[in-house]
Formats: sequence, structure tokens, C-alpha cells
Amino acid sequence: MPELTFLGTGTSNGIPIIGCRCPVCTSPDPRDRRARTSAVVRDRGRAYLLDTATELRLQAIATGLDRVDAVLMTHAHADHTGGFDDLRRFNELQKEHIPVYADATTAGMLRERYAYAFTDLYPFYGGKPDLILHEIAGPFSPFGREVVPIPVRHGRMPVTGYRFGDLAYVTDAKEIPPGSLELLRGLDILVLNALRERPHPTHLSLAEAVAIIEDLRPRQAYLVHLSHELSHAAATAQLPPGIAVAYDGLTVRTRGD
Ligand SMILES: [Zn+2]
Ligand SMILES: [Zn+2]
Ligand SMILES: [Zn+2]
Repeated sequence: MPELTFLGTGTSNGIPIIGCRCPVCTSPDPRDRRARTSAVVRDRGRAYLLDTATELRLQAIATGLDRVDAVLMTHAHADHTGGFDDLRRFNELQKEHIPVYADATTAGMLRERYAYAFTDLYPFYGGKPDLILHEIAGPFSPFGREVVPIPVRHGRMPVTGYRFGDLAYVTDAKEIPPGSLELLRGLDILVLNALRERPHPTHLSLAEAVAIIEDLRPRQAYLVHLSHELSHAAATAQLPPGIAVAYDGLTVRTRGD
């Protein structure tokens, strides 16, 4: 029964946006405050961190996250990698190297930007992240439980979603190729990105996300990566039953395996 906690549910600027006085950025509804999109999946005693968002430290403190068994990266855009250095605190707590899984494009970008995290410089943990990078090209089983990568398109950039049993997490998609749609059938919970009502060249709009969910028919879907053009209440009011807007700190659990 995988369980997922939303650490952040906002688009790359976060909400509120610096210097913006729009109704969503000044909303009194706490669900309208969104850190950059990231989540933690807990499954069979292991904690899988999905991306290292800019606010990783604050997200970990807010949700009590104190252990990360593996990091699964979706892609290397700055909003999903900005907290990478905060991983060093988990090395310090756990006294061990931590595995990071990423597709080849993302792994290449991580190696370039965070070379120091993949080199052992110190005889102790905590001074910097100590990570072992694994390039993935298909299903993998870090701790005996199969994780299925779901390749999607984010404009020209490849992005990887992940499926754990009957739960799947897909962010920053604009297009889900037919082969990947097949990997997302029979789900209890699907997490999918929806930016705003207006179309965007590299992100699904609300209507595009709803159409995909209505085709896939998970028991329950949650939308993430919202912009300040959509308040939690306004987005929720437009959604059919079985599709909800996620918010930072929300924990959801699947019914099956
Ligand atoms: Zn993003
Ligand atoms: Zn705003
Ligand atoms: Zn992105």
C-alpha cells in the first residue's frame, strides 16, 4: 500500500510569486501557498524522494521527513533540482551514500551541475551530498520492489514519471506517448501535472490533464504543478469526481498493492 506525501505542488516560481499581488498570491487559503513540486513515496518501509525541489529543507522540516532511501529524479529543471545540496543532511543522518535514479539526459545534467556530489572528498558524511547515480532505461528494483519508469515529454525535454504498484507520479508532462499511457492503466492513484486553464507549450492545461485522467480512469487522481492563475478553490470547482487538486503536506494512500 504505497503512501505519498506532497512536499510541494506549485510551478517553477512557487506561489506566492515574488512581487505579485494577484488574488491567488495574496489568498488567505493555506492551500494556495505552493512550494516547488516534489513528493515522497513510502512503500514497504522505504522512503523514495521524488525530485529535490528548491525548498527541500523546508519541505522536510514541515512534513517530518528524516530519512531518504532513494532519490528518483523526474528531470533536471531548476525547480526540481534546486534542493539537491540539502541531500547531504540525509547522508549525515543515515551515515551512508544514497542512490539517485535518473534517465540518461537527467543523469548527464546532474553530473555536470553537481559533480562534487558524486566524488568522495571527505572521510565523513554531511559536508556535501554523497550520492551514487544510477542511469535507468527500464524497470528497476532498488529494494526488491519494482519501480516502473514512465517516459513522458515536456516540450522537447524527456521527463520520467514513476509507478509503484498501483500508484503513479507524473509531473511536467505535456504529452504522454501511447506506450506510457499503457503503463498507467489499472491505477488506484495517479498524480499528474496541470498548470492552468490556458494552454502552455510544455505543460498540460487543466482540460488536457482531465482528458488524460478520464482515459486512464484511476480510482483517484491528484493534480500538481499549479501556477498562480488557478486558486485551489477555483480549480477544484471545475473538476469532476475522482480528480482533486493536491496541496503541500497532503498525504494519500492507495487501497491495494
Ligand atoms: Zn517543474
Ligand atoms: Zn500571483
Ligand atoms: Zn520542468
